[in-house]
Amino acid sequence: MPAKQKKAFIVHKFRLYPTEEQQVELAQMFGNCRFLFNKSLALCKESYPMGVGYPGKFTLFSLIPHYQELYPFLNKTSVTELRDALTGLDAAYQRFFAKEGGFPKFKKRTGRQSMTCSQGVVLSKAKIGHFLKVEGLKNIPINLDKRSKKAGFPDWQPKRATISKSPSGEFYASISWQTVAVEKAPYQPTSIIGIDEGIINIAATSYGRKLENPRALKLHTRRLRRAQRSLARKKKGSRNRMKARVRVAKIHQQITRTRKFAINSFIHHEVRKAALNNQAIAIQSSPKKPQLKNCKLSKALSDAAGGYLIASLRSECLSLGVPLLTVSQWEATSSICHKCLHKHPSLTLKDRKWRCLTCGALHDRDVNAAKVIALIAGGVIIPLPAQGNCVDARSPYQWRDMADQSATKVRPSQGVACFKDGEISLFEAQVSHSEDFIQGAHGPDPRISPIVTSGLISNS
Ligand SMILES: [Zn+2]
Repeated sequence: MPAKQKKAFIVHKFRLYPTEEQQVELAQMFGNCRFLFNKSLALCKESYPMGVGYPGKFTLFSLIPHYQELYPFLNKTSVTELRDALTGLDAAYQRFFAKEGGFPKFKKRTGRQSMTCSQGVVLSKAKIGHFLKVEGLKNIPINLDKRSKKAGFPDWQPKRATISKSPSGEFYASISWQTVAVEKAPYQPTSIIGIDEGIINIAATSYGRKLENPRALKLHTRRLRRAQRSLARKKKGSRNRMKARVRVAKIHQQITRTRKFAINSFIHHEVRKAALNNQAIAIQSSPKKPQLKNCKLSKALSDAAGGYLIASLRSECLSLGVPLLTVSQWEATSSICHKCLHKHPSLTLKDRKWRCLTCGALHDRDVNAAKVIALIAGGVIIPLPAQGNCVDARSPYQWRDMADQSATKVRPSQGVACFKDGEISLFEAQVSHSEDFIQGAHGPDPRISPIVTSGLISNS
């Protein structure tokens, strides 16, 4: 066993099935946490014009007894849970100060409800199933699946739990476990899996596997439209409006589930495969916000859930210790032939298949892009210098000359980095060529031997 063990937290979300009495109690707890959160936020906002800055969470903690005197219903919730609500407010403020997020917002009574318990979280097993206990509420039936066993239950007990209620009325618990980070052997990839994001295919890999877009939103648009129209016609504050709101929320939930199921199973398969074969995964970074401003593409882009794909990929790679490489958004990956590196001069978004004008190879648009991403991320191809003796002006890349170590420097924008143990580190890779390149139409590049010596690709 290593002398120094790194601690790590993992979080899993499980479905809860509280009884009717428990649901009433949970509603009270959600309400109290929300009430205190909103009161404290209002206090901070009101005192700001008087020259008082954000007082910090410990000052807010000290006000809890005063609030409990003023509003006796707050006594129904334990102090630690009220403190956790204020810790959430503090976290929101800290994100705002660090310019990572907007100004904290008031919590709504109609949206997603949640509360965090950082003490007294116990999971127990009985004959009829599993139960969750938090401060003030015990024996909430919980559906623990195999992820809990992986996370160490029952040897490890959970640290924190965030209980939430979705707008459609379902209860969940996000439970975090403290574990020991697994020490991975030094990473030596023999190949890289490139993944290209898209709309028609949400993802395509460099070896030809594609994830077709389930088009979840398009599938349910008609139902959603009718439900939303019905909701708009209900009288505000009425019971029927509440029912209509739940119907809309359920359709939205169905849409999200369809998407997430497809993406999760694809990502899980890819990352596990990469972990087994000591491979790295490469993606092209693309900021979603500017793209969403394109009014012709925004709906389809949102339906493809590219952001969720990246987030899911990142977390899965972290948990299995697979390096995730990113290629700059400015690299033209779709229109480059992965066999001869020439750029197609007039490729449009409509062209799903195209033939290279130089070497004559027929390419699937997404798979070719994924292959180019893998080549760039591995440093197998590097950009041609802007000036100098370009052999062909139409080719923006060249095969890396492995004998010349000075050529191993990668353009800074390329950002070849690896995420390992939650930290970004430089990528030290042993790169070998894909079969395609070696048997390319133009024959193997005489400058590069198929097995390449390891070289450090640095960002400097
Ligand atoms: Zn070509």
